[in-house]
Amino acid sequence: MTDVSNTDWSAEHSANLYGIREWGGGYFDISEQGDAVVNAILGEKTVSVPLINIVNGMKERGLEMPAILRVENLLDHRIKALNEAFANAIEQGEYNNHYRGVFPIKVNQQCHVIEEIADFGQHYHHGFEAGSKAELIIALSQLRDHDSLIICNGYKDTEFVELGLYARQMGIPCFFVLETPAELPTIIECSRALGIEPLIGVRIKPSTVVDGHWNGDSGDRSIFGLSSNALLDVVEQLKLEDMLHCLQLLHCHLGSQLPNIRNIRSGVLEACRFYIGLINEGAPMGYLDLGGGLAVDYEGASSNSTHSMNYQVLEYCINIVETVRESLDPEGIDHPVIVTESGRATVAYSSLLLFNILDVRNHQPLPLPESLPVGSHELLSNLFAVPAILSLNNFQECYNDALYYRDEIRDLFRRGQASLRDRALADNITLAVLAGITALLPEVDRVPPEIEHLPELLADIYYGNFSLFQSLPDVWAIDQVFPVMPIHRLNEQPDRQAIIADITCDCDGKIDNFSSPDGQQKTLPLHSLNDSEDYILGVFLVGAYQETLGDLHNLFGDTNVVSVHIDGDDSFHFVREFHGDSIADVLSYVEYDPRTVQEKFRRVAEQAVRQGKISVATRQKMLNAFKESMRGYTYFEH
Ligand SMILES: *Cc1c(COP(=O)(O)O)cnc(C)c1O
Repeated sequence: MTDVSNTDWSAEHSANLYGIREWGGGYFDISEQGDAVVNAILGEKTVSVPLINIVNGMKERGLEMPAILRVENLLDHRIKALNEAFANAIEQGEYNNHYRGVFPIKVNQQCHVIEEIADFGQHYHHGFEAGSKAELIIALSQLRDHDSLIICNGYKDTEFVELGLYARQMGIPCFFVLETPAELPTIIECSRALGIEPLIGVRIKPSTVVDGHWNGDSGDRSIFGLSSNALLDVVEQLKLEDMLHCLQLLHCHLGSQLPNIRNIRSGVLEACRFYIGLINEGAPMGYLDLGGGLAVDYEGASSNSTHSMNYQVLEYCINIVETVRESLDPEGIDHPVIVTESGRATVAYSSLLLFNILDVRNHQPLPLPESLPVGSHELLSNLFAVPAILSLNNFQECYNDALYYRDEIRDLFRRGQASLRDRALADNITLAVLAGITALLPEVDRVPPEIEHLPELLADIYYGNFSLFQSLPDVWAIDQVFPVMPIHRLNEQPDRQAIIADITCDCDGKIDNFSSPDGQQKTLPLHSLNDSEDYILGVFLVGAYQETLGDLHNLFGDTNVVSVHIDGDDSFHFVREFHGDSIADVLSYVEYDPRTVQEKFRRVAEQAVRQGKISVATRQKMLNAFKESMRGYTYFEH
């Protein structure tokens, strides 16, 4: 940590410490007053709103922590940025066709998010990608104009195909992308039966293998897409049915969160060769869909590590546009409409998770006694001598001795030969030695590997009012790293190092890996709690994938959600408010009938009255408390 006295600490120091300007994409910063702010870019003007003001506004409206905050302006700005970057690349690159974005609904299916994308995206003819019937139904109900595409991926049954064909009949450019040749007969039959011609796309299996977590989506073993032979089989079938003219789109998805721009270029290059191949086979084509994969720099490191990216959005667009033009021009093939299915990069910024800290457990030793208490086990005297002699010259020896003697005492305790007080004292002396060594570490040139982990072992545990499994499932499932930091008190120097635990009773319910522009860190600098106010942390960039992947571990339900819109006069208003699940809600998800549950409790209470254990008045109080709880929030309430 930067060595400055607390009075010298400013918001500027916090900005560097947490890297907010590196991962914030210009949307987040820290005000001089020490509050994290969200920036809305409104034309020429940038309006900054402190997140803590929004939290206070939520509390006044009865929306307690934990909560998801969506900022509409950020979602709008991402759609605008992506579309304008492509428009820019197309103009600069003298490319003779346009760009059409589609939002993959699976990345965030929440109604408000989809409605906002449909509304704001209309201006750019931004469409949707649907991977299931349910998502197609969402897309059909939301789409505003017939220049926007609907791209249907995933396995399609008759009902799915019929819905898509009806969309065609209404003039919506709705593509069926074939994942396997087996889907083709269904499409051909339905189209014949309804007398509606389909728009067909083929998903290829790129052999380009990419960096990052999702490298299984590319390469020969990818579970998606047609092999080159299967592709030719599709072409033959379509020729036989006299339907080759329906084949107009090539689809290629290299995987999500592609950190390395060089992989993207190779993937596009390969897709172009397939595109040329299909033209040469006689398919008209016209659309090149390059899937998702545009990354988000969760670390702010601008690197090709899994949670980062070594390129900018405009660079991504220019790479695609140039590669397509340079591949097709020598073949004399017209430039296709470029389609991408960016999900993560479209929605990640617009949501953040906010929660309060309920409690802190620190691993600080208690003060040691002046001398060993009378009656202590004799072995304790060896251990007791260690803290006094600890120095830079012998810290490794002290480390070994302390652990050795501690383990001896623990052995004796197991055998009944040392008391609980002996054991507690041994643990505390050891902790004092470890804390002493940790304090020396900044002066040590080469820290031995076994000692390197001490700061993490001694870090505080901050208990947050949230469920990792409900609100940040990717942290648990795929070790996703999200930026986390306090949203206020940022002109005070953080005086603790901590990891964060959630309120499930699961040992996996913790965050102990933190993004930082200097690489990942095992602990997060935080402030000591004070009595006068709640300490609120924000987890940023959580708009993609987290909400619907979340589960009901320990029956913690959906959190409260608010959407705000920031206005030109520096104010903000609450566009939508949703109260999270009540306990009755989550019980019904696991097939309890809340009324039956209540009735069963009533019977238990009634019996207690009959047995004279409680009065009727007490019974009433209990039933009311029970009912009140059923209506209440599943999280910790004040
Ligand atoms: C998941 C998925 C996407 C979205 O990918 P992002 O990396 O989030 O942009 C796009 N297309 C397909 C086919 C997908 O499966």
